[in-house]
Amino acid sequence: MIFRQLLEPVSSTYTYLLGCEETRQAMLIDAVLATWQRDLEELNKLGLKLACTFDSHIHADHISAARKLKMEAGSRIAHPAFDNLACADVGLEEGKPFELGSIRVEPLFTPGHTDGHHAYRVDGRVLTGDALLIDGCGRTDFQNGDAPTLYRSVRDKLFALPEDTLVYPAHDYQGRRVSSVGQEKTRNPRLGGDKPLAEFVKIMQELKLAYPKFIDYAVPGNRECGKCPYGVPENLQEYCAQIGESVQG
Ligand code: FE
Repeated sequence: MIFRQLLEPVSSTYTYLLGCEETRQAMLIDAVLATWQRDLEELNKLGLKLACTFDSHIHADHISAARKLKMEAGSRIAHPAFDNLACADVGLEEGKPFELGSIRVEPLFTPGHTDGHHAYRVDGRVLTGDALLIDGCGRTDFQNGDAPTLYRSVRDKLFALPEDTLVYPAHDYQGRRVSSVGQEKTRNPRLGGDKPLAEFVKIMQELKLAYPKFIDYAVPGNRECGKCPYGVPENLQEYCAQIGESVQG
């Protein structure tokens, strides 16, 4: 399998490229609208053709590239079935592996950051979305997030994977790129070791994070698989700049 971790720097999002060496088909996981051209160039350089895009959840901080890539490259849009998006071509569910050539992706239902969040296990790696970050985790105060639910998703499902499974998160704000299940199980300051549920809930309650500046545009835009919503203020337009030039945008 061909594997690449690509960074979108405005939202510090990692997009993952998975390619089948035999069929030359590829998928992108958590592709960001602002970097759709870069992602297609990367696929071209590798001699791969984009077959589908996946998202781990409905993002609140950026616009997904799923819709744009479907328009430009003809890729299918795969999204957790839980979210019931009318624009999705494929509904992803735990227990139903998705196969593309020799690549086999196992969706893992991991709610708590959002209620429909899924992680994706593939070939010794787990792409953890915003459920588990390196030394952290996604926030639980929006989008039907729930700290006890996230605690169970991470500890019962992600930490149950073999310890040498590589952990690839959807974000890192300090440039870290990869961890492992064993390392997060031991070291994660929020969820690792023998951290009790009550302590995790308290940590999450006390984070006092600012209201996400883009959420009111990103969530409706991403419920349409990555449409740049009308009326985005100037200071947020960098997130939407590319699709603004498109007739269909
Ligand atoms: Fe998120």
